[in-house]
Amino acid sequence: MPASDRNETTGSRFTRLVRQQYLSGGYVFATPAVARARGKGISRIARLASNENPWPPSDTAIRMGGEALEGANRYPDETMAELVSALSRHHGDYSFVTGVGMDGVIETLLRTMVNPGDKVAVSVPTFSFYQLAARAQSADIIDIPRQADFAVEPRDFIRKAREAKVSFLCSPNNPTGTVTPPGDVREILSKIDGILFLDNAYVEFSEIDYRPLMREFDNLVIGRTMSKAFALAGARVGYAFVPAWLAPFYQRAATPFTLNSISAQAAIGALEAGGGGRDYITSVRHWRKRFSDECRFPVSPSGANFVMIDSRPYSGTEMTGMLADRGVIVRSCASFPGLSDHFIRVSIGEDWENELFLASINSFR
Ligand SMILES: *Cc1c(COP(=O)(O)O)cnc(C)c1O
Repeated sequence: MPASDRNETTGSRFTRLVRQQYLSGGYVFATPAVARARGKGISRIARLASNENPWPPSDTAIRMGGEALEGANRYPDETMAELVSALSRHHGDYSFVTGVGMDGVIETLLRTMVNPGDKVAVSVPTFSFYQLAARAQSADIIDIPRQADFAVEPRDFIRKAREAKVSFLCSPNNPTGTVTPPGDVREILSKIDGILFLDNAYVEFSEIDYRPLMREFDNLVIGRTMSKAFALAGARVGYAFVPAWLAPFYQRAATPFTLNSISAQAAIGALEAGGGGRDYITSVRHWRKRFSDECRFPVSPSGANFVMIDSRPYSGTEMTGMLADRGVIVRSCASFPGLSDHFIRVSIGEDWENELFLASINSFR
């Protein structure tokens, strides 16, 4: 219809149509809290809401990404062969798929596997994107609630995931920080029929390695990202360890040139630089302990580069506002389904940011 004919009524009709597709609120960004801190006249803001590495990417990543721009008149290699070789050098001999962030990998995997009405199980509370992406495939979503201490109970998971084509388990879990022991993951894998997507976005910060499970099971996919430990959140590079049978189907479901050549080269540079953000990982482990020892509010045990804190008597939203007024941006957990509204999630940032956070939260009674 001509744009001039569009009026309030048709506008709201389209809005209604789209809302049916996306009933939940969508992804939550940290921008409003930053505006609130700026409104208070604070210019030096501690950004502890998005679990980013506070330091720039490695020099090699910056150089290789920059050099790749010179050849950007050509389409990238659709097989991402160089990146896959770099991943094999880094991790050993596994099958890999790549995508635009791990989010892109999740989306493509669901497009590969899930038809309308298929069941997708999600261990909650957790990262919201699994459900957003599953809903976009018109999947039926099964929530699998965690225990009171946020641990996953394997037998309960197995029972509820029995009918699911794909199940999601995040370890270390966002936003709770909880690590699921590899033995529990093994038990789940051996008893479910569908695919288990194990989200390892934060595994570099934990003491745990799930990769050996890839050798035992052909229904395991392990998602990884260059956004956290490797400091490339803006480059949008994710990948997954997949069983060999899955890779060709994934390639068919993916858009033709998924990952751009500049990001791919930056990722290769970050992998080759070695260490994998070693200094940041060391700093995270140090500060995770200081946060649990020194914060006046209860801190959940975490294997990630963030901690979840019980903000009672304040709601997560109140506490997020109070901290924003002091120039500290954290994430309220209010939008995480399955979690009561008195938690915040705080990323580990630079030393001054962490100090400012501790001093600020400890000034509240
Ligand atoms: C950050 C994050 C991701 C993925 O991030 P990308 O930037 O899309 O690679 C995936 N899962 C969890 C739990 C995360 O927190």
